[in-house]
Amino acid sequence: MNLLMVGAGFSCAVIARKYAEQGHKVTVIDSREHVAGNCYSERNAETGVMVHTYGPHIFHTDDKEVWDYVNQWVEFKPYTNRVKTTSQGAVYSLPINLHTINQYFGKTLNPTEAKAFIESQADTAIRDPQTFEEQAMRFVGKDFYEAFFKGYTQKQWGVHPSTLPASILKRLPVRFNYDDNYFNHKYQGMPVNGYTEIVEKILDHENIEVKLNTAFEKSMAEMFDHVFYSGPIDAYFEYQHGRLGYRTLDFKQEIHEGDYQGTAVMNYGDVEVPYTRITEHKYFSPWESHDKTVIYKEYSRLAEEQDTPYYPIRFAGGQGVEQLSQYVALAKKQNKVTFVGRLGTYRYLDMDVTIREAMTVAEKSIKALEEGNAIPAFFVDVA
Ligand code: UDP
Repeated sequence: MNLLMVGAGFSCAVIARKYAEQGHKVTVIDSREHVAGNCYSERNAETGVMVHTYGPHIFHTDDKEVWDYVNQWVEFKPYTNRVKTTSQGAVYSLPINLHTINQYFGKTLNPTEAKAFIESQADTAIRDPQTFEEQAMRFVGKDFYEAFFKGYTQKQWGVHPSTLPASILKRLPVRFNYDDNYFNHKYQGMPVNGYTEIVEKILDHENIEVKLNTAFEKSMAEMFDHVFYSGPIDAYFEYQHGRLGYRTLDFKQEIHEGDYQGTAVMNYGDVEVPYTRITEHKYFSPWESHDKTVIYKEYSRLAEEQDTPYYPIRFAGGQGVEQLSQYVALAKKQNKVTFVGRLGTYRYLDMDVTIREAMTVAEKSIKALEEGNAIPAFFVDVA
């Protein structure tokens, strides 16, 4: 088989490798001048700091196979994401934990007392929280909601949290001990030489050819037996049902002498502060030391036509969300194209889930071929 992979991020890289190892010829194209998609990282020339160019990426997963997969290509070092937030003139620990509770309320509660106290703050009349706001009011109460979530979420999503689904907040744990690890996952770490190297190594195979600065055009498909497409699904169909909504991010980079904030991630809960967070990239590689420091102030806004899409706005009220099913229906009719990844399936995916799905797509599609069947357009339920 002769295959085309559109996009050189994790999705297509993982699929390309599996096919290449089966003896198939694979061409990977990307419109950017580098591989690794939004995971791309590179050393800043002036400071030597490894910078996550498209925003911070922390690898965390419960999936041992995925963890072993990424570790097979490069060396990872232990990294625990610990996030702070500045709100109402003070600095607190996130995700909400016993330290946050005691500090915010000026108390010395133990875990049992803290649980009872937060329950007394919560709006227990809310039986089945549907919105972000209800979820927050039900589980942490008004004070925490307003200090940590309301302003930040308004900035991040551009809408009031009462119009967002509860699922967005469910990403964050609430803990009644002093564990301030942002994630609950079993495996967490950072690649020593950045993420770009992982994707470069995955793609380094005699049956894989990578063409950068190459935008996808429909006519290219004719030269291949099958296409795996990780670009935006609406772009593939030339926006014939309108554009799907995305949030994009603007990063304002600054370089300073010494240290800037003393930690990797500082969120800003107040709506009056225009950015959502500041990331200080040398803290993502705590085993390194640098005299200077690179920071990103992160601003979120609705993506316009020329902007890089980041977060799909996949909920009621999101631009074009009613059209998504039309795009999915169109995509399902394609018999030579499979849609993969965050943009191809219009879902917000963490890196580990992206890799897991790509592994599954590769295995199942190779099996389908071996059995003489066509490769389906989707392997996950994306409707
Ligand atoms: N969030 C918030 N305040 C914070 C951090 C997160 O209100 O200090 C909300 C925000 O709406 C965000 C969601 O919780 O989209 C999920 O947080 P997470 O850190 O998982 O965000 P992501 O990884 O999507 O940037």
